[in-house]
Amino acid sequence: MKVLKFGGTSVGTAQRIKNVAALVTERGKNIIVLSAMSGTTNSLVQISERLHNEDIEGAYGIIEGLKQKYARTLEEMFDSEEYLNLAKAKVQECFDFIRLHTMSNFSERYEKEILAQGELMSTNIMHAYLLSQGVKSVLLPALDYMRIDENAEPDYDYIKAHLHDMLDASAHADIYITQGFICRNPEGDIDNLQRGGSDYSASIIGAMIDAEEVQIWTDIDGMHNNDPRFVEKTAPVHELAFEEAAELAYFGAKILHPTCVRPAQEHNIPVRLLNTLCPEAFGTLIHNSSETGKIKAIAAKDNITSIKIKSSRMLLAYGFLRKIFEIFEDNKTAIDMITTSEVGVSVTIDNTKNLEQIISGLKTLGEVTVEEDMVIICVVGDLKWQNTGFEAKVLNAISTIPVRMISYGGSNHNVSVLIHKDDKIEALNLLSNHLFNN
Ligand code: ASP
Ligand code: MG
Repeated sequence: MKVLKFGGTSVGTAQRIKNVAALVTERGKNIIVLSAMSGTTNSLVQISERLHNEDIEGAYGIIEGLKQKYARTLEEMFDSEEYLNLAKAKVQECFDFIRLHTMSNFSERYEKEILAQGELMSTNIMHAYLLSQGVKSVLLPALDYMRIDENAEPDYDYIKAHLHDMLDASAHADIYITQGFICRNPEGDIDNLQRGGSDYSASIIGAMIDAEEVQIWTDIDGMHNNDPRFVEKTAPVHELAFEEAAELAYFGAKILHPTCVRPAQEHNIPVRLLNTLCPEAFGTLIHNSSETGKIKAIAAKDNITSIKIKSSRMLLAYGFLRKIFEIFEDNKTAIDMITTSEVGVSVTIDNTKNLEQIISGLKTLGEVTVEEDMVIICVVGDLKWQNTGFEAKVLNAISTIPVRMISYGGSNHNVSVLIHKDDKIEALNLLSNHLFNN
């Protein structure tokens, strides 16, 4: 059995839901993981924000708009009165639930319950549509098996046991439909796997059923070797190692959520990125092996802040780095990139919520310089140190661009450089020209 996950745009309109239904029906008995229809989760976030600010009228306005969108989608989808009514009733239940929350004092728990309605609606619509087409579709409610623990990590034992029970109880199915993104927490309350988390759901499910493959369907033919929004001649990368995919996902390749890699990697389940608009395209296969000695792809991560700490006290001192790291830890801020010299350390962060406290802490250790609006460009491939020449290629390609930091050697799979955001597009193009297009 395979796990096929479809994102919001793949189920964004009545026609697209029908296309996905046809596509999954042809592929046999698999588990289909769906996101909410595109735009829905954002609208649900807005509704929650309005309720949080006690702007009930504002919340009603968005709810009404969303309701009409779903009503139109359903009218467009169904020929059969019976299944139209089934889908309508399920969608109505979700809107009633949201409405209920406009009556009482808002809490964070409510927000999660409201956010869950997007996936509940898309899966119920798909399920009703498949039934209307004579497909024996079975819904696997994610809230009955997907659970996180106190550390917000998947509770694998629980998930495995419950998912297997549910599959065993419905062995007659032609196809299984389930929600991405949503889960329960240890208290049993509705929770989620963070924005974009449906990819993670698919990977967890794939790992738990020992799937033949996890497929992430979007509307681009796989992971490209550079960002097609900024570089004209990009091409899909046919094959990536899990580590390479993880670096690319983390450093900005939007097509795959970074959390998606680990469960599949740990259980050695191949992940394939495919295109709903062109299902025959090979896409990208992510698995446990990869071509050696090759640079695969380039990604960019925006909104990076660099912080330099310079101190003569660092000279030959031990414990200096620990003191620096502790300041970041105390301020719950993750460091992305780091370079050191004998008298200074530069690090980058992307979360500047606690920047002021971080700076004042670091000032007790040395002179601090902060630069905003920076971008990490990450070049990924099989870059083991024994493979010669690739660092030179990367730096030669961008020899006309001011480089603020360089990082290599943290993993076998990436060389990262930090540059100013104004140089990003030029750097991405230069890298593509030098590394791929000659
Ligand atoms: N619907 C959720 C979101 O928009 C989860 C997902 O699409 O992966 O973040
Ligand atoms: Mg996504």
